[in-house]
Amino acid sequence: MLNKSGTRQQIVILGGGPAGLTTGYYAQKKNLPFTIYEQNDRVGGNSITLKHEDFMFDSGAHLFLDKDPRVTKEIFEILESHLNKISLPLQTYYDGKLVDFPFSPLNLMVNLGIRKFIKSNFEIATKKFRKRSATDNFANYVKHVYGETISDLFLLNYSEKLWGKFCSDLSSKIAGKLLTGFTFKTFLIELLRGREAKIQHTVGNMYYPEKGFGTIMEKIAQRCGPENIRINSKITKILHDDNEIRFIEINGVEKLKTGFVVSTIPLNLFIQLMDPTPSKNILTTAKSLQFRDLILVTLFLDRETVTDSASIHFPNPEFSITRIHEPKNRNKSMAPTGKTSLVAEIPCFEGDRIWLKKDKDLIQQVSSELSSMGWIETGEILDGIVSRLHHAYPILDLNYQNKIKKLRNFLDGFDNLKITGRTGAFEYLSFHHIMRASEKIIDAIPIH
Ligand SMILES: Cc1cc2nc3c(=O)[nH]c(=O)nc-3n(C[C@H](O)[C@H](O)[C@H](O)COP(=O)(O)OP(=O)(O)OC[C@H]3O[C@@H](n4cnc5c(N)ncnc54)[C@H](O)[C@@H]3O)c2cc1C
Repeated sequence: MLNKSGTRQQIVILGGGPAGLTTGYYAQKKNLPFTIYEQNDRVGGNSITLKHEDFMFDSGAHLFLDKDPRVTKEIFEILESHLNKISLPLQTYYDGKLVDFPFSPLNLMVNLGIRKFIKSNFEIATKKFRKRSATDNFANYVKHVYGETISDLFLLNYSEKLWGKFCSDLSSKIAGKLLTGFTFKTFLIELLRGREAKIQHTVGNMYYPEKGFGTIMEKIAQRCGPENIRINSKITKILHDDNEIRFIEINGVEKLKTGFVVSTIPLNLFIQLMDPTPSKNILTTAKSLQFRDLILVTLFLDRETVTDSASIHFPNPEFSITRIHEPKNRNKSMAPTGKTSLVAEIPCFEGDRIWLKKDKDLIQQVSSELSSMGWIETGEILDGIVSRLHHAYPILDLNYQNKIKKLRNFLDGFDNLKITGRTGAFEYLSFHHIMRASEKIIDAIPIH
């Protein structure tokens, strides 16, 4: 990482979300010089905690998943162990009832009724004898694993709302790791050791920091050092010479020479900012990548509590919301005494009719959906706030792996570039994956 005159080159990190911040964190640990460039006036990307009067709430239902012991150890150290274990269930709202998600046989038996339960079990038990469809799309995948009954009740409708595409047009990779748990082992664990043991078996341990998920990003930003972070710095051009990124342009005016570049800004945007413009083939592929955006409607309530869940999913297409969570259930400090709040998520595309709705109409819409289900009474609503997130979910369509392979092959041709993160690498990643990937990138940067 020395330049021709023998001095150390800056690592230029594009984007100050979790991927950019954790890359900076590991660079700082190795004493490598770096600067993070973030377009917004704050870092944290789509993983932030917002404030409204005495309430705090996150940009969506974020939890820290204890899936990678190395990352967990690092996070506990950074937060000086100020994280609490969350043992509340993730649930799905079905026909006025709450079904645990990931599914488990005992809980489904209680909530579905015996006829549907027997039918769904029969479908799952006989899956070995059914030929799996040759087309590896999400619809075929879930029907094979869960059978028609559970797929139709909970999975296909929910996924179509979340991704805005037919499940037959989506890759089975959108399943992530949550669609597990419907096994005899889970049944026994729940029966013998209770629901908490079942949650741990299916999801793993979930943790939440005091004062919101965004605290993780704030603490990591502190470790990076404010002198190494430039906010209000939008990357507007990436100048290259076909095998190296030479300069970046910031806010359309400033041109900076680069050392090693780690990009976490949306992959399609990165390619479109390249100058000279890449081939038509690369450009068309980049432009065909799509992200799902997200509207968050937070309602502040004059009421002690609403739910007993970590979060609740809504597969029913009648409702625009896909998920709610109650921040106070994650940490008491998220709402003042005697009051609570609910954060509702509405996935959509920027520019959709719903995206363009006025904030007061969105607050009204979510209030009436929640009150029609009996969750709240409109008289309890003290206030509401709407937030809009860009690039929340990379849409993994049937051809996405080929597209990403093509774009990666092209970008691998640049000696001083790495791409990472959920938006930067266009992968359906969680925070622990992102943090581990950042460490690997910094470890791989040649120091001498
Ligand atoms: C609703 C929701 C809930 C989630 N829940 C969890 C969870 O419970 N647990 C978990 O582990 N993960 C969760 N995730 C996944 C993941 O942790 C987050 O998506 C995370 O924010 C991704 O980080 P990132 O840095 O890759 O992207 P982003 O957070 O999108 O950050 C990218 C950054 O780049 C900046 N940027 C973009 N363009 C430019 C430009 N031209 N110039 C400069 N800066 C630019 C953006 O402003 C942004 O700050 C969740 C994601 C969402 C959307």
